[in-house]
Amino acid sequence: MNMEQRIKNLYDRIKKACDKAERDISEIQVVAVTKTVSTDRIEEAYKWGFRNFGENRVQEAREKIPNLAHLKDVKWHLIGHLQKNKVKYAVRMFDMIQSVDSEQLAYEISKRAKDNIDVLVEVNTSMEPQKHGAKPDEVFDLVEYVLSLEHLNLLGFMTVGPYPVSEKGSKRAFSLLREIRDKAEVKFDRRFPILSMGMTEDFEYAILEGSTMLRIGRGIFGERTY
Ligand SMILES: *Cc1c(COP(=O)(O)O)cnc(C)c1O
Repeated sequence: MNMEQRIKNLYDRIKKACDKAERDISEIQVVAVTKTVSTDRIEEAYKWGFRNFGENRVQEAREKIPNLAHLKDVKWHLIGHLQKNKVKYAVRMFDMIQSVDSEQLAYEISKRAKDNIDVLVEVNTSMEPQKHGAKPDEVFDLVEYVLSLEHLNLLGFMTVGPYPVSEKGSKRAFSLLREIRDKAEVKFDRRFPILSMGMTEDFEYAILEGSTMLRIGRGIFGERTY
């Protein structure tokens, strides 16, 4: 399958899931996840219309993003864990950091950022110990802290669904993130419009549970060869 066919299949699936959820497809943004993907294939995805791209490692992003500066109107999202000593690079390259999961990290981003930067709070909705993300019962304290910091523009929440994918597990994780968002909107009396949840294998469940931002790698670029 080539990229064009994969993208067509992807949007067929997204459309079907939206129909089932009785949602409009315009509510769903797709971040094309480009980890391990070469810059020429990223340019090809750009030609097919993608404008949001996600990388999970700062080092890899530093090797690729500067070579793609000619692509106009592109937003880069950091979707992987961020170490404090890499924050200074991350705030320069990324338009959105989706993986804020501790007060120390939030503080470091606030300190290093020259301009405002969009962020999401990452939540470990499946409580798998090897996973990053704030614990569900610590999220509101972290949100309160993030809101108190300069330069951080908190737009919502991100989670990685459980693996292996199952309908029950995925729905449980994604509905938990939506509940956290809904409660946070009441508690802090402001909108958090972005729910970043859903990847190639589980995004239908995410759309049913209210996702507004899918992070899709293999569904666009094919299997990764590490
Ligand atoms: C790799 C990755 C994705 C995309 O995964 P696919 O299964 O290729 O769609 C999404 N989110 C995060 C955090 C990732 O690391």
